[in-house]
Amino acid sequence: MELKLYNTLTREKEVFTPISETVRIYSCGPTVYSFAHIGNFRSYVFMDTLRRVLKYNGYKLKHVMNITDVGHLESDADEGEDKIAKAARKENKDPYEIAKYYTDVFLRDMKRLNIDEPEIICKATDHIQEMIKFVSDIVNNGYGYETSKGIYFDISKLDKYPVLSDRKVDEQIAGARVEVDTEKRNPEDFALWIKAPEKHLMKWDSPWGLCYPGWHIECSAMSNKYLGEEFDIHTGGIDHIPTHHENEIAQNKGRCGKIPARFWMHCNFLQIDGGKMSKSLGNIYTIDDLKQKGIDPLAYKLFCFTSHYRNKLNFTFEGAISSNTSLIRLKEGYKKHLEGKDIVDSKVIDDFEEKFHIAINDDLNMPSAMSIVWDVVRFPKKSKNLANLLLKFDEVLGLKIDEEFGEKIEIPEEIQKLIEERKIARENKNFELSDKIRDIIREKGYIIKDAKEGIQIEKA
Ligand code: AMP
Ligand code: ZN
Repeated sequence: MELKLYNTLTREKEVFTPISETVRIYSCGPTVYSFAHIGNFRSYVFMDTLRRVLKYNGYKLKHVMNITDVGHLESDADEGEDKIAKAARKENKDPYEIAKYYTDVFLRDMKRLNIDEPEIICKATDHIQEMIKFVSDIVNNGYGYETSKGIYFDISKLDKYPVLSDRKVDEQIAGARVEVDTEKRNPEDFALWIKAPEKHLMKWDSPWGLCYPGWHIECSAMSNKYLGEEFDIHTGGIDHIPTHHENEIAQNKGRCGKIPARFWMHCNFLQIDGGKMSKSLGNIYTIDDLKQKGIDPLAYKLFCFTSHYRNKLNFTFEGAISSNTSLIRLKEGYKKHLEGKDIVDSKVIDDFEEKFHIAINDDLNMPSAMSIVWDVVRFPKKSKNLANLLLKFDEVLGLKIDEEFGEKIEIPEEIQKLIEERKIARENKNFELSDKIRDIIREKGYIIKDAKEGIQIEKA
C-alpha cells in the first residue's frame, strides 16, 4: 500500500519511496540543559509513530537522533549564551555533568512513553573533529569566511535561500531587533563555528583557535557521518523550519551541493490552555508532573493521537485525564476480545486492517487510525482474532495494550521480602507489625496500597 508523507520542502503530501532498501532518518534531538517537557515529547511521540509506521510497512530503519550537549545558544540564531554553559554556571556544576543528568532523564522518559529508540543516539561533543572538517570543507568551497567572532556561512553564495520556509530574508532582517554585525557579509549569514571568549566553559582547539560549534553544524556533521550526504527523512518541531533546518540545508549545499534529506517532516506545537508554554507563566509540565497527577505516560501518548501531528494540540489536564480513562478502556477491550469465544468472519478482520493501514499511510493520520481501533474494541462479537488484530495495531501505537495499566516497577529483593513479611503479619492479624513494615517500606521509597485485587506498589 502507498505511504504518503507531508514534505515541508515541497509543501505537498508525497508518495514515500526510500533511496535504498533501508530507510535513513535523522531527528533533531533534545538540548540537554533542563528537563524535556511534554511539548518536546509531542515531537518525539511523532518521531516514534513515524518509525513504527515505516516498520509496519515493512521497511528496515537506520535512524539517528542527536543529543545537543553544546552550542545551542539562547536564541536559535546566533544570540545569547550557550544553554548548557548557562545552566552549568547557574547550578555551579560541570557542563558535562549537566548534560549527562538531563540526557539520562530524557532517555528514561522516552522509555516511559514506549518511544522506540533510534538505532544511533549521538552526542555533539563526541563529533567535534567531524564538525571541524565540515566547516573546513565549507570554507574551502568558498561558502564560509572568518570574522573576529567566528566562521560564518555566506548565504549570498547559494542559488536560493531560504528554501524550506516562507520567510523573506529582507522582512526578517527589517523586523529583527538584533544589533547589526558589521563584519558579516550579509545580515542573514549565520555562525558555523564560534570563537570562544576566555571564560567560556566548553571550547576546542581548531584551525581558527579555541572555539565551540554553532548548533546547526552539529546536525549537519552527524547526519553526514552516519547517513551520508543524502538520506530519506529529516524530522523536528516546526520551530526548526525557519532557522535550524534552513541552515542545515545551506551547510550541506555549501559542502557538497545537495539538500541532505528528501523529506522534511515537522511536528506542530503542543499548547497549554490555548496558549504558549513558558517558564514565566509556570505552565511547563514534565512527564513526572503528569504522573504526580495520576496520568500515565502512555495516556499522554494516547492524548497526542487525538490530533494530527501537523495540527496544534491543546493540552488540558481534563483532556489528559480522559485519555487515562481511554487507555484503561482500551486495555479492557483487548482483554475482553482475548477471552472471547465468538467467531468473526476473516473479511471483517481484513476490512478493519485495511482501514487502519490506509489511515496510518495517509501522512500518519492517528486520529483516524484511533477511530478504527475503537471500532474494533467495541465490536459486539468478542474474539481472539480481534485481540490479535489490536496487538498488531499496537505495533504502531506503542501503548502496551496487552499489559496491565500503570507503569511496571522493578521491586528490589529487599522490598519483596518485606512485602512477604507484611503479608504474613496481616494473615496473623498482627496489624501493628504490618503497619510498621509498611512504614519501613515507605522509608525505602515504595508505597504499598491494599486493594481488592491484591496489594499495589508504587514508587514514593
Ligand atoms: P529543544 O530541546 O529545545 O531543542 O527541543 C526539542 C524538540 O522539541 C524540538 O524538536 C522542538 O521543535 C520540539 N518542541 C519544543 N517545544 C515544543 C512544543 N511546545 N510542542 C511540540 N514540540 C516542541
Ligand atoms: Zn538538529
